[in-house]
Amino acid sequence: MSKQREGRAVVLGGSMAGLFSARALSETFAEVVVVDRDELTGPNELRRGLPQGHHLHGLLARGQQITEEYFPGITEALTRGGAGSGDVADDVRWIINGKRLRKVHSELLVLTLSRPFLERHVRDRVLALPGVSFLEEADILRLETTGDRRTVTGVVVRRAGGAEETLHADLVVDATGRGSRTSVWLQEFGYEAVQEEKHKIGLGYTTRYYRVPDAAFEGDISINTVASAGVPRGAICQRIEGDRAIVTAYGILGDHPPTEPEGFLGFVKSLAAPDIHEVLEVSEPIDDPVAYKFPTNLRRHYQRMTDFPAGLLVIGDAVCSFNPSYAQGMTVAALGSLVLRRHLAATHRPDPIRYFEDLARDAIDGCWEMAVGADLSFPEVEGERTEEVRQAHAFIAQVQEAATRDASVARAYARVIGLVDSPAVLHTPQIEAALAVTGQR
Ligand SMILES: Cc1cc2nc3c(=O)[nH]c(=O)nc-3n(C[C@H](O)[C@H](O)[C@H](O)COP(=O)(O)OP(=O)(O)OC[C@H]3O[C@@H](n4cnc5c(N)ncnc54)[C@H](O)[C@@H]3O)c2cc1C
Repeated sequence: MSKQREGRAVVLGGSMAGLFSARALSETFAEVVVVDRDELTGPNELRRGLPQGHHLHGLLARGQQITEEYFPGITEALTRGGAGSGDVADDVRWIINGKRLRKVHSELLVLTLSRPFLERHVRDRVLALPGVSFLEEADILRLETTGDRRTVTGVVVRRAGGAEETLHADLVVDATGRGSRTSVWLQEFGYEAVQEEKHKIGLGYTTRYYRVPDAAFEGDISINTVASAGVPRGAICQRIEGDRAIVTAYGILGDHPPTEPEGFLGFVKSLAAPDIHEVLEVSEPIDDPVAYKFPTNLRRHYQRMTDFPAGLLVIGDAVCSFNPSYAQGMTVAALGSLVLRRHLAATHRPDPIRYFEDLARDAIDGCWEMAVGADLSFPEVEGERTEEVRQAHAFIAQVQEAATRDASVARAYARVIGLVDSPAVLHTPQIEAALAVTGQR
């Protein structure tokens, strides 16, 4: 980077979107301050501000690639620290509609690990970057602006037990997650309301950790029994660091896995395939099941605003939070940080509307369509099923069926859901021919 690093950026929120943003900002700004209400660097890894961190977090292949590009050597460090590591289509047992997908080498690496473990490694790398510091245990209260409200100049925070203080900034990046206050603050400043799009899914997660005998996984690092229209319940069972396995089960529209141990096991037994239940029968639980509810997909369409103050950007779940069972959130945060990085290469204070347009196009639109579209494949989920949506469901069902038999389809599908390739690759002549050969078209 030939440009001189100068000025100060403040990142609101020190979770994955905040950390990826800090990495991007550190290339341009002399100082980057990451503010969070939690004690980020403390010993308690399951922090209050990250309740979802107890539950299974898969980093999609594209997110894994970006993470390694940002922090060279981190993959090896995570693996050395105990993360499972393997090929996403060869070492993961994918079960869709009760059938196993064909195993194939996809050349896409997947790590199996807990969210706090991943976050700690990323955070340590971010903290080691020149000019980056963390302001921990500080509540973000409000934005500071110029008198005409046209430019954000900083943020007011309060440290634990302390008085309010203002952190001045040339650029503020809001990465405070789904509960972000930016949309409210903007209205208080007199800006139009951001358009919010919500889709109800009534998802419930329940997670339990186990000691699993080595042989039980039969050489795989993860078993993913995916919820489908026929059986709208799913679960993932993964080897993670600390010689443990994490099992997260989920169901939609109030059909939630119980937290009472027998009920949890019964829910896992009711899935479309017996694989995970068989593993649990020979495993030992090491804690009690814990639940999490996720009512709606939520997107804030900042790219549709016609006016937005300078010196402020928003990223990560604060813009878009998806059905977590598709495991897109962290990768979308990473993709968002690449958009941020690109805009920062031109100027310290990117044009917000242009940034939001690029963020929508390059990081969010495709994933949002995929997630909302996939949710509509469950008949019980409310929403309009246009002809286009119905055709997409029929096509994906064909791809999934063909992927149980045909290696090239299984590989292409893994690369699409890993956000490495565009869904367009599923329409190439080679894949179309494979669908036809397997009698699916
Ligand atoms: C149950 C569940 C499972 C998930 N599984 C996956 C998965 O498998 N794969 C995946 O990629 N994604 C998954 N996600 C999504 C993923 O957790 C997020 O996309 C990811 O954490 C990025 O979010 P973020 O950094 O934007 O916000 P968050 O992770 O929500 O972090 C926001 C941060 O801001 C801080 N903060 C908020 N308000 C304030 C304030 N006023 N003052 C100070 N600090 C504040 C919080 O302490 C927190 O650290 C899952 C989500 C859920 C709910």
